[in-house]
Amino acid sequence: MTRLIEETPPFWAIMDALPTALLCKDIAKASIYANSAALELLDLPMDQAVLSLSDVRQISLADPDSKEPLGLVHNPLLLALSGSALQQCVTLPTGLTVELKAQLIRFHFTSSSTVLIVLCPCQPQTTLPVSKWTADDDSELTEALAFDKLMSLISTELINVRPEQLDTHIQSALAALGEFCHADRSYVFLMNHDKATMSNTHEWVRAGISSHIERLQDLPQAAQPFIWQTLAADAIFAVQDVGQLPAEAALEKREFQREDIQSILCSAMLSHGQLLGFVGCDMVARKRAWTASDIRRLKLVGHMIGNTIQNVRDRVSLQQVQQQLMQANKELQLLASRDGLTGIANRRQFDTVLQQELHRCARNKQPLGLILIDIDHFKAYNDNYGHQAGDDALKRVASLLRDHIQRQGELVARYGGEEFAIILPSIQIAQLKTTAENLLHAVQQLAIPHQHSVSDCLTISIGCSLMKPDKNSSPEFFIHQTDTALYRAKAQGRNQVCYATVTA
Ligand code: GH3
Ligand code: MG
Ligand code: MG
Repeated sequence: MTRLIEETPPFWAIMDALPTALLCKDIAKASIYANSAALELLDLPMDQAVLSLSDVRQISLADPDSKEPLGLVHNPLLLALSGSALQQCVTLPTGLTVELKAQLIRFHFTSSSTVLIVLCPCQPQTTLPVSKWTADDDSELTEALAFDKLMSLISTELINVRPEQLDTHIQSALAALGEFCHADRSYVFLMNHDKATMSNTHEWVRAGISSHIERLQDLPQAAQPFIWQTLAADAIFAVQDVGQLPAEAALEKREFQREDIQSILCSAMLSHGQLLGFVGCDMVARKRAWTASDIRRLKLVGHMIGNTIQNVRDRVSLQQVQQQLMQANKELQLLASRDGLTGIANRRQFDTVLQQELHRCARNKQPLGLILIDIDHFKAYNDNYGHQAGDDALKRVASLLRDHIQRQGELVARYGGEEFAIILPSIQIAQLKTTAENLLHAVQQLAIPHQHSVSDCLTISIGCSLMKPDKNSSPEFFIHQTDTALYRAKAQGRNQVCYATVTA
């Protein structure tokens, strides 16, 4: 079969043409081939001829009698494809019937190193209960093999598990552990952040067995000192008969009896040498002398879950650190572009944006406006009212400018000591003039007393210009022309606006 698939491509074309649904897998390989009829029956995309075990896991199968969905442990399709339960499956003469989306399907398994599964829709009266398909108690070797296969399947999926899938995967592992160890409960306890209490975080219970997860939260070490000490010292806590626990385990004994536990087996989960928590199994219906293979299985599941939890935590905290770094970087970038006194853009940011806007407006054939503002007789203001008052006046003028300049793409910056600059992309000359005049009047209306200037109040002089940039336009030339207009405003008596039209 394997040779046929690999070496003669027409073989698969023939399989595909058959009206019967077929799944085929070489046990040594990961891919599963599904022919068109199988894809249609399993409601899978028709272009997905090769499936993975994860794809098969998504196919929900139910017990035809109870209508209960078959979990991972009893999913015959998955087990057969992973090679685990083939031996038991092929001994069933009539195959195995399950329900798939309200449709009864019979599986027939054949083969040796290649699994060929024939899926046939069937009539309700021909159903064979899934419960008849279980491992025999005495076929220990087969069961051990099936357990190992299942664990390797779960652990492969756990390697890159996403944090939000973690709980589901731990549940699957616990269900597998409980079923294969014939336990009544299996569970995980994890140390809380305080490192002083533990909580029962995950639990699987056999049908008819009581659950205690809700009660078993935030348990201090003092509530179960014996089990904590034993796990810390030996990593394993195995009790065949809870009634025989020593006197120092009185608290545990009382709790176990409250939960009707007759035998209990727990294995520590360690991470970086620290106790992360433990995984455990209870026997409620009968006492149990735990075997070496029970302990081996529990340890395996404990390692697997412990490593996965630590791995997910490490990844989550790495992501958090990365996010904090990105946030810090953003804040740094913002800080580097802001003026410390006024909070508006600084000269560095102004230079960057002017260069960008020159290019953008040249590309889009749009005009670009520039306004330079200088506070009149500001040295005299400082000299008479003090440097602190000077700082306050700068802040007030800056926030006034920011409030007036709101169009998208416009930028107000502190250009120098008592000088401000405004970039106004895609503005027309009339609008530019109005904006400049408005700013002049708005500063006058702030009515900041300044007895040593051109009027009684603080005023500004404005130079502005409009440019129609092309790809050769330089920011220096644009600034120079605007600065010349500002100089004219100063020379003509201050507290006024002057314009320059820049053509290149
Ligand atoms: P003009 O009308 O010609 O512009 O006269 P001016 O006095 O404003 O010009 P000048 O360049 O002579 O003086 C600018 C003053 O601005 C000098 C400086 O002390 C002041 N100044 C610059 N930066 C700051 C600052 O951050 N805080 C304060 N309080 N003053 C500043
Ligand atoms: Mg100046
Ligand atoms: Mg000045």
